[in-house]
Amino acid sequence: MTAHDRLTLVITAYNEQEALPLLHPRLCAQLRALADVDGRILYVDDGSSDATWQVMQTLAAQEPRVAVLRLSRNFGKEVALTAGLDFVEDGAVILLDADGQDPPELIPDFVALWRQGHDDVYGVREERDGDGWLKRVTAAVFYRVMGRLSKTPIPADTGDFRLLSPRALAALRQLRERQRFMKGLFGWVGYNRVALPYRRQARVAGRSKFGFWKLWNFALEGITSFSTAPLRVATYLGLFTATGAFAFAAWVVAKAALYGDRVAGWPTMMAVILFLGGVQLIALGLIGEYLGRLYMEAKQRPLYLVDTWQPANVAVSAPSTSAGERRADRSTVAWGQVP
Ligand code: UDP
Ligand code: MG
Repeated sequence: MTAHDRLTLVITAYNEQEALPLLHPRLCAQLRALADVDGRILYVDDGSSDATWQVMQTLAAQEPRVAVLRLSRNFGKEVALTAGLDFVEDGAVILLDADGQDPPELIPDFVALWRQGHDDVYGVREERDGDGWLKRVTAAVFYRVMGRLSKTPIPADTGDFRLLSPRALAALRQLRERQRFMKGLFGWVGYNRVALPYRRQARVAGRSKFGFWKLWNFALEGITSFSTAPLRVATYLGLFTATGAFAFAAWVVAKAALYGDRVAGWPTMMAVILFLGGVQLIALGLIGEYLGRLYMEAKQRPLYLVDTWQPANVAVSAPSTSAGERRADRSTVAWGQVP
């Protein structure tokens, strides 16, 4: 542990004014206990409409090792996380939810695994205390489908609660696609990965921002960004129905030739037309999903816009100086002490 002994906790928050003040002391306690790590916190306000930003500023004023970043509007969690990761100066990062569902008490375990040489330590939810049965079941189905369809390894029951080593962070920052499915992007990076099982807690305060519809869109995003298998399904569906249709046509012609066409055949005709129309619409819809994403990607807009960036108030030497220098800078300001 020489060159990368800095650790930044990145927390994205959208309307978490009640939860943040409860979470903050727990984070500070953990960082303080990690004696040989230069701990920092970075709060990202994802365009909250409540007092989240004011709360963050209060916390930053109390604690010089807290940096705060505010985006120009609500961009969604995936983009807010990306912004947070972009603004980490150097060292490793741990991503946590603002609502206390990812227990900060696990931070020492993450750090221990990092020190054993792992680059991506991801928390795996063994129990989900805060989630109802519908969320558990749909999540389970989603991870199974995802695992089948995608060639990128995406571990089941893994959220964004994880530690990234400096090189994993650097790799992740290179992925600038607009359709951001973070779980998949983490998997794409690879390196030395290890799971850390934990018990997912119930929210400490506030409400979940992910309703059923948002989760459905999230699942669509995940599948279409990491797999083209649905397009292949469309092809097979087309092939299958076309073969069936040819066989049926041959039979109809043969029957007419042998016995004459005595029946008008309206029901079969309608059935075939409706069926083929349906299949074509499904295939078109699938192609449309990918085309739409291609269009979003082609626009090359920035991923997010920053409203305010307030770095940590600790005298920091330029990133990636020698370890000795950084140690010196660390010893000037202890946790909980305003310089
Ligand atoms: N979040 C965010 N932007 C959003 C929605 C959510 O930054 O647009 C944050 C939220 O504040 C929380 C985390 O993402 O810290 C997880 O959200 P939530 O707890 O609502 O999701 P759940 O745990 O219910 O899946
Ligand atoms: Mg939550």
